[in-house]
Amino acid sequence: MLFLPCLAMAQKVAVLPLIAKEYDGLVALYKDLHQNPEISFQEKETAAKLAKELKKLGFEVTEGVGGYGLVAVLRNGTGKTILVRADMDALPMLEETNLEYASKAFGKDDSGQPVPAMHGCGHDIHMTVLIGTAKVLAASKKDWRGTVVLVAQPAEERGSGAKAMLKEGLYTKFPKPDYALALHTSASLPAGSVGLCSEYALANVDMVDIWVYGEGGHGAYPHLTKDPIVLASQIVVALQTVVSRETNPIEPAVLTVGAFHAGTKHNVIPNEAHLKLTLRSYSAEVRQNMIQQINRICAGMAQAAGLLASKYPKVVVNESEALPSLYNDPTLTKELETLFGKLLGTTHTVKSPPVLGAEDFGLFGRDSEHKVPICLYWLGTVNETHYQEFLKGERKLPSLHSSKYAPQISPTLETGIRTMSEAVLMLLAK
Ligand SMILES: [Zn+2]
Ligand SMILES: [Zn+2]
Repeated sequence: MLFLPCLAMAQKVAVLPLIAKEYDGLVALYKDLHQNPEISFQEKETAAKLAKELKKLGFEVTEGVGGYGLVAVLRNGTGKTILVRADMDALPMLEETNLEYASKAFGKDDSGQPVPAMHGCGHDIHMTVLIGTAKVLAASKKDWRGTVVLVAQPAEERGSGAKAMLKEGLYTKFPKPDYALALHTSASLPAGSVGLCSEYALANVDMVDIWVYGEGGHGAYPHLTKDPIVLASQIVVALQTVVSRETNPIEPAVLTVGAFHAGTKHNVIPNEAHLKLTLRSYSAEVRQNMIQQINRICAGMAQAAGLLASKYPKVVVNESEALPSLYNDPTLTKELETLFGKLLGTTHTVKSPPVLGAEDFGLFGRDSEHKVPICLYWLGTVNETHYQEFLKGERKLPSLHSSKYAPQISPTLETGIRTMSEAVLMLLAK
């Protein structure tokens, strides 16, 4: 007799009936999370709710990992370790969806002032999928072997949560995963569908500050000054060549000067100007080259303006806010694509293009000792009728982070829980 124990085990789990049994409770949890959003670094009640659910299911739950982060472990004999991550934070924005369960909640901004809060990025869907997956796995323990690590991560929108959790020992104090999975809601795919992007899916993000120095003075005597506004303006124009002339055209890259501050009065030439840039790229080489070119241009333009080397612009790449690109392991992504194609049909399993947005889940695959194969896939959330109208050019779809973004609960939740549970079961069977 052919011996295929693990695969046979995994195929025995009847995932759909398990989801159906828990469905009403999961919808109630989703609506509760949606009505009670908490913005980055303030996810206290959200984390407590998830911890309670996971403890009930028999997970060993550790709270307070990297802020309000949670790590929930379910050990079930010898086998692989699979990590599933959901992010918990909402955005400081006013919800305008008119849903009966719309958020009316407020959080506090960094200065302590009240700000409206909304799950405008679908992290409430991610959390509900995490709990649904936990329920499926806890109810089917007899059919799989290994360890499941569920992670509820804070502060994704500030790019800090994954870093903080890894720094606090996510991969040293808890079982280190053989694979790590996540999903993100998509505001451009219909509910019931998923999208996958192999290799680079989301970008390197850098925030760069440039202080341009000059020698200030009277606006009527420019010849006695070195005008930092003129120099900074020339630098802004010269920076446009970093992508257009200094980067291989088949490599994606963006350089945006998002802020330019200088001066106080009409007739005063100031001493300095301040530029704020964001950079996007996929490969480490392109990122490094962009930073080098920015430094070269700043020094060269300052020299041309007649400044001494001691007054050349100061270029600061904010390493603590930098996020590396998200690289979906091609083998793992292919395996998920095949699995999801079988579950949902190939018309509901699409290839998604890479984007230059950012997601700190990429860090879960960049642990220094051992690169963990990761995959983040997109979960469609758009009402099918709205999607068809969009395809005909009759409707615009609200994007993620829009005050009008309203994921359709069903079949989004079932599809998320089903694909994630089946993915974990498949990987545990390897
Ligand atoms: Zn977001
Ligand atoms: Zn998000």
